[in-house]
Amino acid sequence: MSTLDRHDPATGAARPPLACDDAAAVAAAYQRARAAQPAWAARPFAERHAILSRFRDLLAAEADALGAVQSAETGKPIKQARGEVGATPGRVGWFLDRAEALLSTEVRADAPGMVEKTTWEPLGVLANISAWNYPWFVGTNVYVPALLAGNAVLYKPSEFAADTGAAMGDLLHRAGVPADVFQVIQGGGATGAALLDQPIDGVYFTGSHATGVRIAQAAAAKLIPVQLELGGKDPAYAAEDVDPAATAAGLADGAFYNAGQSCCAVERIYVHADIYDAFVAAFVAEVKGFTRGAPSDPDTYLGPLTRQPQLAVLQAQVEDAVAKGARVLTGGAAIDGPGWYFAPTVLVDVDHSMAVMREESFGPIIGIQKVADDAEAIRLMNDTEYGLTAAVYTRDQARAEAILGALDTGSAYWNCCDRVSPRLEWTGRGHSGVGSTLGDVGIRAFTRPRGWHLRSPA
Ligand code: NAD
Repeated sequence: MSTLDRHDPATGAARPPLACDDAAAVAAAYQRARAAQPAWAARPFAERHAILSRFRDLLAAEADALGAVQSAETGKPIKQARGEVGATPGRVGWFLDRAEALLSTEVRADAPGMVEKTTWEPLGVLANISAWNYPWFVGTNVYVPALLAGNAVLYKPSEFAADTGAAMGDLLHRAGVPADVFQVIQGGGATGAALLDQPIDGVYFTGSHATGVRIAQAAAAKLIPVQLELGGKDPAYAAEDVDPAATAAGLADGAFYNAGQSCCAVERIYVHADIYDAFVAAFVAEVKGFTRGAPSDPDTYLGPLTRQPQLAVLQAQVEDAVAKGARVLTGGAAIDGPGWYFAPTVLVDVDHSMAVMREESFGPIIGIQKVADDAEAIRLMNDTEYGLTAAVYTRDQARAEAILGALDTGSAYWNCCDRVSPRLEWTGRGHSGVGSTLGDVGIRAFTRPRGWHLRSPA
């Protein structure tokens, strides 16, 4: 069995290595899941619902301890880790509330002699390959509705959130999900690739665009559902009619929460020329006020990056921007000392020739660009291969909806950002992915419909 080295992002100190499942172990797990899935699907929906309800309750009861597990391995500040775990039971509650209505048989026509109905049937054995940045949110978005629908799930957490993944398996099994119906597969990319070699019935992936493309290629010949929730380069636009300070505070949080390691983090900001100077001054003051420190400290807002190599990516984006004429107003480099901290960085005089305005940063760094009007803002916001979210700040709802409607993104925010609702489909366009979790679509995403045409004997 191979292992992966692990480190504490806050200190760089070694953590116990991760024992990885090899191809034989993955194949055996698949066989067990295949054997167990029909009995799980055959159980009444109410039984599966009761089990996932117990999971929700256990999660709520143990949220603080589970937040600490996540914080220790990813470096996410403890307050934010506990915030994520603590909010997850409510999102699971959405699935529990909606699933029965969406998974029940629907009679579409009931004419004399001819009945038409649709049933929503499980796909079978699903692979769920996940990311580390919000492991509870992006994990439960997949495996809770998938299990409710009667599927078995082979869940491969990120190697950077492996302890959290193990804890998820423990919680689900304690709640009553059979051990073979939900299995945690541990390892990195090689283990994920081995999982895709199995004759799975669907793959649900959260991660980077580059890996997502590899997943889609590996799954192509299987002709199975492939759902990809990928990265973003999410823009925000502040129009001239807003309060610059309040808007700057909201957008700074959207850009720097979890050290910018959110798929829907604000990654580039456009500001109307009339409020540009006031906005930038307030934004920089806000960023300078962030409390940086150890993830275990409840007062910490900005912790380390989870992955050390990202420090070099951020450094390269800063250097590229500065070489092309940008100015660094604060930050601009990794922080000396132990751990993988990057100083929160604000760049101005940026343009779209610079990587910082085009490529996902996934860290505490932002470019702010001045625009003359809405048309320029729309043109620049659309100048991207990604399409996850976009935010517009203005007092005028009609204006905001007109701007947002001209953008090609899966989520549209008016006077808010970096926000996910269980009630709304979460979906990316372009390089941000295909398919949806959450919302009604994100419940049926783990089923296949069967259309029944039932003619009575004459
Ligand atoms: P990543 O692509 O490096 O890894 C994601 C998962 O894929 C991990 O479990 C990894 O082990 C696995 N993997 C890597 N290579 C593989 C291969 N060849 N075959 C199968 N599996 C493989 O991404 P990450 O660093 O974990 O996550 C960060 C990225 O995720 C960012 O781009 C972020 O924007 C994105 N993300 C998107 C959403 C969303 O909802 N759209 C949510 C969270 C994160």
